[in-house]
Amino acid sequence: MIYKILKDYWGYTSFRPGQEEIIKSALSGKDTLALMPTGGGKSICFQVPALAREGICLVVSPLIALIKDQVQNLNKNGIKALAVYSGMSYNQIDIALDNAAYGDYKFLYVSPERLQTPLFKGRAAKMNINFLVVDEAHCISQWGYDFRPSYLEIKKIKETVGNVPVIALTATATKAVSEDIVEKLGFGEHNIVSTGFDRPNLSYVARNTEDKFGHILRICNGVQGTGIVYVRERKKTEEIAAFLRGNGFTADFYHAGLSKEMRAVKQDQWKSGELRIIVATNAFGMGIDKPDVRFVIHYDLPDSLEAYFQEAGRAGRDGKRSYTALLWNSSDLKRLKAIHNVTYPPVEYIKDIYQKVFIYLQIPYEAGKDSVNKFNLQEFARKFSLNAVSAYHAIKYIEQEGYWELTDEIDNPSRIMFVVNRDELYKVQLGNVQLDVFIKAVLRLYTGLFSKITTIDEVYIAKVTSDSEAGVREKLLTLSRMRIIKYIPRVRTPFIIMNYERLLESNFYISMKRYQERKEMFGKRIESVVRFIENDSVCRSRQLIEYFGQPVQDDCGVCDVCISRKNGAGGESSRNAAYNRIIDCIRQG
Ligand code: ADP
Ligand code: MG
Repeated sequence: MIYKILKDYWGYTSFRPGQEEIIKSALSGKDTLALMPTGGGKSICFQVPALAREGICLVVSPLIALIKDQVQNLNKNGIKALAVYSGMSYNQIDIALDNAAYGDYKFLYVSPERLQTPLFKGRAAKMNINFLVVDEAHCISQWGYDFRPSYLEIKKIKETVGNVPVIALTATATKAVSEDIVEKLGFGEHNIVSTGFDRPNLSYVARNTEDKFGHILRICNGVQGTGIVYVRERKKTEEIAAFLRGNGFTADFYHAGLSKEMRAVKQDQWKSGELRIIVATNAFGMGIDKPDVRFVIHYDLPDSLEAYFQEAGRAGRDGKRSYTALLWNSSDLKRLKAIHNVTYPPVEYIKDIYQKVFIYLQIPYEAGKDSVNKFNLQEFARKFSLNAVSAYHAIKYIEQEGYWELTDEIDNPSRIMFVVNRDELYKVQLGNVQLDVFIKAVLRLYTGLFSKITTIDEVYIAKVTSDSEAGVREKLLTLSRMRIIKYIPRVRTPFIIMNYERLLESNFYISMKRYQERKEMFGKRIESVVRFIENDSVCRSRQLIEYFGQPVQDDCGVCDVCISRKNGAGGESSRNAAYNRIIDCIRQG
């Protein structure tokens, strides 16, 4: 049954390590916490069981972008899924929940702060829910690196949905965090299924060097195949990509400052192999599934081993020998320590930014709940003469506290609605042949245009009416100018979505205790990175796996520490030799 589901909906013929065990555990009715590295295939671990059972699966996920992405992917595979998140109007949520309760939908995605609304609870009680899924479950733990207070509400929803099995999933849980997840979600029994933190085909190397460019070049020359170079700053991605091109490689850069189209083009070129090396910030990688990445280089130190493990782990998905290099020197250590303070600006500053954002958006006190607001960080910073980086971290802190969500560019499709009645419209159509044809086509393609604002797709209309996309836009604008339709063209900008109304200064509370704890946790994660690069006596792979609280049998035998040990003495010169050996071995396959 589960194999058939996997084949029918995804076209895959086998499960990845761990998936089957998790799926069977969930199907047996046990609460299950699945620990699996990013890209390991966690989604299928709850999607397959949900498809195998009657009813609808309730999925809690922290970010709107993730929710939209997953719903789209399910729909693409012919699975009915919908979503409810902050920023949708009451009406939209009402309709979606109605569909979830009475339509034959299989998945309902919600952002956690929706769970406690009376509307949601009322409808959820009527749904035939088969599983309660908590994606990115580490968000429930204060010890994790991305705590979200609204995740604590999840346990309460169990009272409403009844005693259904819980499936929690995460890529980044240390032992303390997994224990915390099990407890905070009220698992019936302590049931954790963990898979594959061991990556035997990956050769981890940490390298202290003042000549990073030289090293990148040697790796690109020495290792055949596709690679990623991770860099912290956007500007640097361009510089290194140019450097690599100058040395005869096909390379390009990628960061979140590029338009969505641009990013898609570069990503596709890299995936198809047209581009060999992509130099990117950590914006690159989410949802990218390329099996034959042969090397991942970190030009800068990551701020946690969690992030490092995920990014480096993009190499060698196909199981073939692959190579990761973490390049560092003493000035990186200094910079990493400075990041600690930048990431956690003072609480007073955070409070100030909270109010300034509302002022910038012209939202008065006690208003703004559920509003979706375009937000341009640079402009915001300019207007109040703020340092954009500090302001960004303050906004992100407030996001962690659950007050709002700052999204990357969201693609919000165009929407239209007729604001005249049919008779009036008819008169317009009589008077204008060209628009008449167009209006008829639009009315044929979409229903309900007179009663509600409806999502449309200009490209699709263009195709059907044998017009250009620009032509369609022009006609929609004309109709809008004639006050026949309301036309909200598609926008792609970052948004701030308010989960609550604007609070008075005296009511906006930031827990000092939690702030201190978070800052301390962040400091500890940075220290773990420093320990990792400085520890030349313990196998790198062992260090990483033990950091995630997993048992380790043997040393990997292929990291710089292991190789230099094989070569006899430790020390700088033997590590140099080890480094060269590794490149040689990889070159020879
Ligand atoms: P995670 O949530 O663990 O980061 P995803 O669930 O997003 O990972 O899956 C990552 C990719 O792996 C997706 O493209 C997914 O379709 C693919 N995938 C998952 N399971 C399998 C499988 N059994 N066979 C082939 N590809 C799979
Ligand atoms: Mg996932």
